[in-house]
Amino acid sequence: MAKIHELASVLADQIAAGEVVERPASVVKELVENAIDANSTQIDITVEEAGLKRIMVVDDGDGIADEDAEMAFKRHATSKITDRRDLFRIKSLGFRGEALPSIASVADVTMATSTGDVGTLIHNVGGKIVTHTAAAARKGTTITVADLFGNVPARLKYLKSPATELSRITDIVNRLALSYPNVAFSLVHDGRELTRTTGRGDLRQVIAGIYGVQTARKMVAIQGKNPDFTVRGFVSLPELTRASRQYISLLLNGRYIHNFQLSKALIAGYGSKLMVGRYPIAVLDIQMDPVLVDVNVHPTKQEVRISQEPELTQLIQETVFKRLAQENLIPDVADEA
Ligand code: ADP
Ligand code: MG
Repeated sequence: MAKIHELASVLADQIAAGEVVERPASVVKELVENAIDANSTQIDITVEEAGLKRIMVVDDGDGIADEDAEMAFKRHATSKITDRRDLFRIKSLGFRGEALPSIASVADVTMATSTGDVGTLIHNVGGKIVTHTAAAARKGTTITVADLFGNVPARLKYLKSPATELSRITDIVNRLALSYPNVAFSLVHDGRELTRTTGRGDLRQVIAGIYGVQTARKMVAIQGKNPDFTVRGFVSLPELTRASRQYISLLLNGRYIHNFQLSKALIAGYGSKLMVGRYPIAVLDIQMDPVLVDVNVHPTKQEVRISQEPELTQLIQETVFKRLAQENLIPDVADEA
């Protein structure tokens, strides 16, 4: 008898889930990114018991047509790319078609969705669709994830305390809110509101909502460009610092990324103005031709590969340096929004 066989699809999904859904915050990230890709203007996130009991994301986006709804739970099924060329010019946050099947394989997932005419309700347990019925035709999508990792005890054990898992959820929601000032976000945990933004498109206002009004007042707008990159955003004055780098948010074409070299360049822009062990608060949005960046490096897409990274780091450092130098010359000048 042959020894090699294809894995059952649920098993394959659970293996993929190991990479895509590490913890409750990863579920929140994937669901919210889907809502953003669907052109939502309002995204409301409700979490219970740090996400382990329930995560619900309600959006007012495009919705999914009834005929596509089951397909959304299939691995490698996506509406976002079709051919090879698309892979090298990714504009959406998702494209791998892995999140929904991965999440569904390790939880109890309900999806209510509508493009505006008919509505669809799908209930998926442990990676299998158990019901597909009609639902209200309110445009948008609501996904509820219950009993996360209920069928993967090893994963549950590996999670940190509820307080830590919750702080990771808050962190990712805040970064996404900072990335999309035009979208109104809310995050409620066990009945308590943790984040709310208006969606009015003013980044300084979002910063004020997340880091506080006093902080937002001590941030200055920066903007710089070279032939390949445009960078813009807000950085804190040297007097306002934090003890870790985690208050630096780097966005690349709207995607929140981790990149040590780029953070380092931003910090280098402060020259000798920062005390040892102190770091600025910053939100820096980098726009570039999608052809120049490979986002398909890791399943969670937070690591990216940028061509011409040295030119970009130089631009970031110079832009920050010049802006702060200006601040020294004319103190108390009101910077443009
Ligand atoms: P990906 O985002 O990589 O395409 P997902 O598994 O996250 O893969 O989602 C599969 C598909 O389901 C998406 O391509 C999209 O068409 C659809 N989808 C998922 N969430 C939403 C949503 N909130 N609104 C509209 N469509 C959605
Ligand atoms: Mg997705």
